[in-house]
Amino acid sequence: MNRENAESHGTDVACVTEAVPAVPPKGAAAMGEPGQSWSRRGLLVGGAVAGAGLVLPGRAFAGPPPTTDPAPPATGPVPGPSAVPGPDGMPGPAGAGPLAEGVPVPYIARCFEWGARKPKFPPKVWDRRPIRILVHHTAGASTNDYSVGAAHRMARAIQNYQMDRNGWLDSGQHFTISRGGHVMEGRLWSLGELNGGRRVVEGAHSPGQNVIAIGIENEGTYMGVDPTPALWNSLRVTCAYICLRYGIAPTELYGHRDYRNTLCPGDRLYAALPRLRREVAGLLGRRLSRTESTKASWPLLRTGDRGPMVEAAQYLLRDAGSLTGKPDGRFDDRTAAAVSEFQRAHRADDVNGLLGGETWPELARTVRAGTEDDAARAVEVLAAARRVESVPDVVDHPQWQKLLGTSGSAVPDAQDPQGVLNR
Ligand SMILES: [Zn+2]
Repeated sequence: MNRENAESHGTDVACVTEAVPAVPPKGAAAMGEPGQSWSRRGLLVGGAVAGAGLVLPGRAFAGPPPTTDPAPPATGPVPGPSAVPGPDGMPGPAGAGPLAEGVPVPYIARCFEWGARKPKFPPKVWDRRPIRILVHHTAGASTNDYSVGAAHRMARAIQNYQMDRNGWLDSGQHFTISRGGHVMEGRLWSLGELNGGRRVVEGAHSPGQNVIAIGIENEGTYMGVDPTPALWNSLRVTCAYICLRYGIAPTELYGHRDYRNTLCPGDRLYAALPRLRREVAGLLGRRLSRTESTKASWPLLRTGDRGPMVEAAQYLLRDAGSLTGKPDGRFDDRTAAAVSEFQRAHRADDVNGLLGGETWPELARTVRAGTEDDAARAVEVLAAARRVESVPDVVDHPQWQKLLGTSGSAVPDAQDPQGVLNR
């Protein structure tokens, strides 16, 4: 991964909004600053000019804004507790009805509604559908201001940080959800392309997943607390809508840590993902079994952890030449340093001593039956801890995940196509 990728995301607890400054007070919003506000019409014109190129299957292009109206077809108001609050606190959008049986259309505020700045240049639009959703937390303050105004200020603070400090062209995520349950478009055109259901805007929420995954930022830090009911409801409704529009299976919802070395989306929100998959499936009229809704994902190991998974990781680190000494099942400073060394050697985007979804696939190399080395010992440690009677002849990523994770299905490795800028 190149340096741009390395800049494109947070490392430790932080997610997209890492070190985002405090949300500016009311009235100091970007919307009112001269030269920063913009009209949708202006972007439509600019986008149309920039999008005069070819559209090739699976290829990126600076596309025109969506041809579909972001407002879904109207059939009647959406009643009930599953509706997402609009700017006036009412379920919305006005006149919108369920898209399919049981699937309410969430009100998603477009960029111009929350006072977004114009992107530095038009986002890339890919002529392909995303295949999964990545759930993030902003790692920012867990505010108790649930107003739409607070939601919009938060979205502007993220965008300002990412454009001015990170140097990105626009917000990195496709969608943002506030603790009050307000849903907003993140990167420009994300909503229109979602409504079109055929193309996807390139994001910058997770290197390797910026085209094939829709990124949703959830306001707050969910290491020790759960999301608010309003945020949770909007998250599940938004996920259901994205699944429906893009044809994504409700099993294909993941946490940022599944693919990167990060604590995002927090231990609590991450642990709620099986429930999220089941509830999203329910909104789509499907039922998921426990096995279907649970993923045998890579565990996120960190300083202070103990046990057989840590011991297995230590054997693998020693196998790779990054750790000396005897594995003891304690994730101490020595282990964290070994993880960082391994990450540096493998040019990881996140070099932080956290053993997560970016580094595991490189560390957990394929082991074949009959070998006697540290990687094979790692397999033995896990098999003994899980009381696995017989280990397959070839332990590859899905087998590693079974040994390391819960009893669900494996997390697929799929990565973005070539040519993603990640900014
Ligand atoms: Zn994240």
